[in-house]
Amino acid sequence: MERIKENILQVKSNIIKSCKKANREDSEVQLIAVSKYQPIEALMEAYEAGCRDFGENKVQELLVKYEQMPEDTRFHMIGHLQRNKVKSIIDKVVMIHSVDTLALAEEISKEALKKNLIVDVLIEVNVAMEDSKFGLSPDKVKDFVKEIAKLPGISVKGLMTIAPFTMNEEENRIYFHKLHQLAVDIKHENIDNVMVDLLSMGMTGDYCIAIEEGASFVRVGTGIFGERS
Ligand SMILES: *Cc1c(COP(=O)(O)O)cnc(C)c1O
Repeated sequence: MERIKENILQVKSNIIKSCKKANREDSEVQLIAVSKYQPIEALMEAYEAGCRDFGENKVQELLVKYEQMPEDTRFHMIGHLQRNKVKSIIDKVVMIHSVDTLALAEEISKEALKKNLIVDVLIEVNVAMEDSKFGLSPDKVKDFVKEIAKLPGISVKGLMTIAPFTMNEEENRIYFHKLHQLAVDIKHENIDNVMVDLLSMGMTGDYCIAIEEGASFVRVGTGIFGERS
């Protein structure tokens, strides 16, 4: 558990270094502690070390932890989300990073209206076109965003990607660069009700490169909590 605090300090110092290298303000990058499969004690340790943003990828687990964590904890839904689970988390997360079908967006819109909310979302893009991954192929994103823009109760804030697993983080630079470029292209369309300023990209193995390429959220799990059991 002591390690968690040390790890967070290390990650934060790496974030600052990468920002310097890229000429960015470190306030532009938000660290999300990915706490999936971790016990509540581990989340509390990270909380005590100053973390407020946590990423979970399973609805049930997120709901349990939501009840147990202090009120100012912010949960991000970063995993694949089924339509029938939208209702239960929609008022408990600050952002859904993984919107990748119109049906899911419509469900979020419908439930948001019932609760009088505007839900911030990111569009998940499968930049590397891996068969194993969720997310839209890059060429579909622009039209998709235009469709979502018409829905009430849901607000597109940016894009998210999960880069391929690699031992050499430099190999993922091209995917982060592509996601950034895609966001810039969509911004130029000036679609009403759409902001594509935020990029959720970079995990333990590649977050420094992601920051150099413009990440706004980095999602770090094992780099903070150690290996998941
Ligand atoms: C698990 C997970 C992470 C964190 O992965 P690490 O390699 O442990 O940092 C980030 N993003 C998503 C979507 C995840 O599911």
